[in-house]
Amino acid sequence: MVVGCQHMELLKAKGLKSTQARRDILALFNERHTLLRAEDIFAKVKKKGTDLATVYRTLETFEEQGIIRKVDVRSGSDVYELAGHHHHHIVCTKCNIVEGFNDCNAEDISSMLLKNSKNFNVIQDHSFEFFGVCKSCAKR
Ligand SMILES: [Zn+2]
Ligand SMILES: [Zn+2]
Ligand SMILES: [Zn+2]
Repeated sequence: MVVGCQHMELLKAKGLKSTQARRDILALFNERHTLLRAEDIFAKVKKKGTDLATVYRTLETFEEQGIIRKVDVRSGSDVYELAGHHHHHIVCTKCNIVEGFNDCNAEDISSMLLKNSKNFNVIQDHSFEFFGVCKSCAKR
């Protein structure tokens, strides 16, 4: 698999110029459900001369273009992952580990909401995450 090439294609498809920083940052997200904060990314790309401001700007651009999305893990700093693969998360409120899962019964919830809603008759999208305590934290 030629990862670098794929990323260039994606940037091109979104009409974005393929800069070194954009390719490097996108490459860090190459796995589905890889959660990254701006600081994590900066730690990996700074040796190539990319500064933190560029990291923030690139994340903003990627989010606008729907390449990545913000995940609410209640950690204080924004966490991102690749967009386009529909799933939800369970987050440990003690150690912040995050597990992804694909089950989604949002259609049932959506039709229930719409049935009871005064103001809406369309739901286009949804996001929700679950919070709990992981097994290893529960042992402590
Ligand atoms: Zn995920
Ligand atoms: Zn935990
Ligand atoms: Zn869902």
